[in-house]
Amino acid sequence: MTVKTRFAPSPTGYLHIGGVRTALYSWAFAKHHGGEFLLRIEDTDLERSTQESVDIILQGMDWVGLHADNRSNIVYQSKNFPRYKALIQQLLDEGHAYHCYCSKEELEEMREKAEREGTATYDRRWRPEEGKTLPPIPAGVEPVVRFKMPIEGVTRWNDLVKGEISIPNAALDDLIIARADGTPTYNFCVVVDDMDMGITHVIRGDDHVNNTPKQINILEALGATLPEYAHLPMILNEQGKKISKRSGDTVAITEYEDMGILPEALLNYLARLGWAHGDDEFFTMPQFVQWFDLEHVSASPSRMDGKKLMWINAEHIKAADNAELAKLVLPRLQQQGIAVSGSLQLEDVLALVKDRAHDLNALATECAYFYRKGTPAEADVAKHWDAEAPARMQRFAAKLAELPEQDWTAENIHTLFAPFCEAEGIKMGKLGMPLRLAVCGTAKTPSVDAVLALMGKEEVLKRLAQ
Ligand code: GLU
Repeated sequence: MTVKTRFAPSPTGYLHIGGVRTALYSWAFAKHHGGEFLLRIEDTDLERSTQESVDIILQGMDWVGLHADNRSNIVYQSKNFPRYKALIQQLLDEGHAYHCYCSKEELEEMREKAEREGTATYDRRWRPEEGKTLPPIPAGVEPVVRFKMPIEGVTRWNDLVKGEISIPNAALDDLIIARADGTPTYNFCVVVDDMDMGITHVIRGDDHVNNTPKQINILEALGATLPEYAHLPMILNEQGKKISKRSGDTVAITEYEDMGILPEALLNYLARLGWAHGDDEFFTMPQFVQWFDLEHVSASPSRMDGKKLMWINAEHIKAADNAELAKLVLPRLQQQGIAVSGSLQLEDVLALVKDRAHDLNALATECAYFYRKGTPAEADVAKHWDAEAPARMQRFAAKLAELPEQDWTAENIHTLFAPFCEAEGIKMGKLGMPLRLAVCGTAKTPSVDAVLALMGKEEVLKRLAQ
């Protein structure tokens, strides 16, 4: 049996960070078992679903690199209405479903009674039973279609994350599967598509646990093979509350991109959020796929930890290929109005500075002064730029100028420091910091000899002359 999983977002907004983790686990489970990971857009709510949101989801999935195996043939529920309708008719024909003509008022009464008595809401008024006389069909009322849930016994499944779950059938309402206008309802569409797509493992958020017994019973009535279910606990914010935009949480996947998070770092972080492989914190996606199993998914909610995300991001930046990193940093430099031109390769700059930043924006800032001298912070000027600094920098520039072009290396530049400081009667810091300010326009740089070496003699002397 080929393992088939799916990610089934509703396109009603952005791609949620929790959704990406659900997608990641579904993807990793399928890949671990050599199976398929499929994408299904749950757009039956025609009013709330938008093409813009579909595009955002597809772009988000592309950005993180969770590629669906049915990419050229994504399932859109809005295109499956004829199929849903046919199966609703089939259930009616086979006696698994029936028409219900209840009015809003009747349903409201039932709801109040059920609340008082703690039973299922619908009193099965229109459910045909042996020997039962149904009410007369009211004129001019379009009926809904309800599914005949079992009344006796329990519906149980062995949840691959939460363990055995069983729900008494008496608590399950005879679910509406088609509205009065004939459109199918949410749970029914999910069931039909899971069946038609041959989904073997439904891995989704645990906000769907209550839907599962309903879906299992409908699948059985359709004669489908039941999938396994794995319900993932929620991701909470740092305060232990549900993640929400209103609480100021970073929710949409695009916000993480804007923050300068690498997709592989985000996936690494999300993988580890609610799943563990010993003490491993930093890993690649091939490793994750190799290690992933549902047994090690935690059954309790996890909390976001922004510091840890940034730490993992920094680790991935350090491990990244410089040419690949350059492609990501370049647009961020351009955003800062900095043109990367001349002979100084961004890749080489990155090799020197990439262990100094936790995100791509900060990394771009670390690269920026190589291409355009920065404006020093006032505090740094006050601290490091004394009255003697301008003249001293000119004297050091003269020393640098004596170094032949072919000897312009960090080591050779370094050997100039000690004799210069001795001659000036100063400590090394009195040279290094003003030199950084004069050449880079910032006090925060890696080892100054390495910076000068990389920047090149001509550029350094030009800047010192300004
Ligand atoms: N469309 C549902 C959601 O976005 C997911 C349904 C499912 O995975 O079964 O929450």
